[in-house]
Amino acid sequence: MSILRGVGIGQGVATGTVVRMAEALPAPEKQTSAIGADAERARAREAVASVAAELQQRADAAGGAAREVLEAQAMIAEDPTLQDEVDSRIDEGSTAEWAVHDAFAGFRATLEAVGGYLGERAADLDDIAQRVLARLRGVPAPGVPDPGHPFVLVARDLAPADTALLNLEQVLALVTTDGGPTSHTAILAREKGIVALVGAADAVTLADGQTVVVDAAAGTVNAAPTEAEIAAVAERIAARTAEDAAPPAPGALADGTPVSLLANLGKPADAADAVARGAEGVGLFRTEFLFLSSAQAPTIEQQRAAYIELLTAFERKKVVVRLLDAGADKPLAFLNDAHEDNPALGLRGLRALRASEDILREQLTALAEADAATASDLWVMAPMVTTVEETAYFTALAKEYGLKTAGVMVEVPASALLADRVLAHADFASIGTNDLTQYTMAADRLLGSVASFQDPWHPAVLRLVREVGSAGARLGKPVGICGESAADPLLAVVLVGLGATSLSMAPSALADVRRSLAAHTLDDARRIADAALTADDAAGARDAARDAAEPSFSQ
Ligand code: PEP
Ligand code: MG
Repeated sequence: MSILRGVGIGQGVATGTVVRMAEALPAPEKQTSAIGADAERARAREAVASVAAELQQRADAAGGAAREVLEAQAMIAEDPTLQDEVDSRIDEGSTAEWAVHDAFAGFRATLEAVGGYLGERAADLDDIAQRVLARLRGVPAPGVPDPGHPFVLVARDLAPADTALLNLEQVLALVTTDGGPTSHTAILAREKGIVALVGAADAVTLADGQTVVVDAAAGTVNAAPTEAEIAAVAERIAARTAEDAAPPAPGALADGTPVSLLANLGKPADAADAVARGAEGVGLFRTEFLFLSSAQAPTIEQQRAAYIELLTAFERKKVVVRLLDAGADKPLAFLNDAHEDNPALGLRGLRALRASEDILREQLTALAEADAATASDLWVMAPMVTTVEETAYFTALAKEYGLKTAGVMVEVPASALLADRVLAHADFASIGTNDLTQYTMAADRLLGSVASFQDPWHPAVLRLVREVGSAGARLGKPVGICGESAADPLLAVVLVGLGATSLSMAPSALADVRRSLAAHTLDDARRIADAALTADDAAGARDAARDAAEPSFSQ
């Protein structure tokens, strides 16, 4: 078998020779301690503490998402429940090695049984256990090999500690047999722009020294590439490098149809990076991120200063600011004070703002003042709008404060299904596909056990997007997308085919989405979207879109 399949992360391609990651340390034998429980407990404590300290050091060196992942690992290492489990095994007479091995394995089994997001955290536990065992045995911890030349790293799964510190000069690509698209390996590879393929089970057959082509866009490893295939890859790499070096162009389809590419931001300090990556403005500024830890509502002055900083960074460009989206995954103490059994279905988004209208009015005041003090094009929108009446309420209120462009987020099926009537009262709609997927699929977006339902490729979600896109086209109103789906290069094409006129995403995703749009005309995008809509499920929609997009998409 020369073509191996997996889940590609990003759109990169790379070729090089395989170096496999060393296999894990062998499991310890179950033995009775020869030195007594006190001494074993002290050994276990010292080993755990030194591993936690090392992980913390790596966290400090890594920064970004890697930092959070490594800090979480350092905390898991010293988790008191785990330590109790280790101690109880030592008290029964076992060695520190066996106690650590057995206690971590028990915890791992629990996570795996839960599955989904938590199941994918199981690799983190293995890594910590291996590090503690290595420390107890006085041998180096297993880790990324260093053959002294650039290579394609093949591993079962990478520990976050390893991914975070990968030497990008040496590691041309990364292939793992385990892990899924939401594993830490995938998250960190995406952030670092590493060409990666995860969940490629057949990669166990790859041998050290073998030349391979890793194609993340196609989701494949070619284990026996011909000279011609290697030359074609070299051309693709050169083309990507040249494109990356050129100043980013505005987003457009191959036929010239413009599709604004905008940034999702949570704080003004991130604006400079977004501008450098060619963001044509901001499609979603999550104002609640500024105040997540505040007990009191922010003052008008505090807010005005933050909004002015943001608007100044995007002078004369469009900046869509979302009013505080409090509740469920983003609780704000000053807006959500009552206990709710189902916060995702509760007083959240515009509902919570309306219940504290003074806070809503203060935010509109701050936004209007920042707008008056700067030269950018400020648009405001309300989160979690469900009804036509809510739309009319919010847009009228925003106009009362002199804000000229007021729209709504479409995040629940009700507002998507009545998009024509919603848009009759709003200047624009912005579809939040994260929540729209959650509510369409009835699957809590925070719950690992139902994570497989949380897939915006699902044709039910795509139909709702089409509903809004068509309404926007009929009424001549812009329809943006600001959920994570816009950052998926192929799904971005589908969304445009369904009627989206702008896409907003994490700035690191802009380049690949820009490239993907430029490879398709509007007719292509509509055809690919139609193909996705005919599928029965998310995986089928993804495959149908990929087939309809060939060969242009994998070029
Ligand atoms: C969404 O729901 O898609 C969205 C963009 O909003 P958030 O992720 O902040 O809920
Ligand atoms: Mg949302």
